[in-house]
Amino acid sequence: MKYPKEVNAYCPHCNKHQKHKVRIASKGRARSMAAGTRAHERSLEGHGGKRAGEKTVKKQGKRQKLMLECEQCKKKQERVVGSRTTKKIELKA
Ligand SMILES: [Zn+2]
Repeated sequence: MKYPKEVNAYCPHCNKHQKHKVRIASKGRARSMAAGTRAHERSLEGHGGKRAGEKTVKKQGKRQKLMLECEQCKKKQERVVGSRTTKKIELKA
């Protein structure tokens, strides 16, 4: 899937449409020592059964995420594009 490098999109901080720079959003890494992560790992211990956070069905493909940066106020918004695809999103030259 191809996507333009610049889009005119709504900015909630400027409260109107502005030019936005488009970048592919990268997922941050989970902190292994965070309280929530430790609590979740504790819940996964034990003897089977249905456990929250363990997936039984794997979806094909992922929904691609973009980061839009407003050129006026430099704030960032996340945008999820389209439906699930196995292909990665490409920015048009
Ligand atoms: Zn803005």
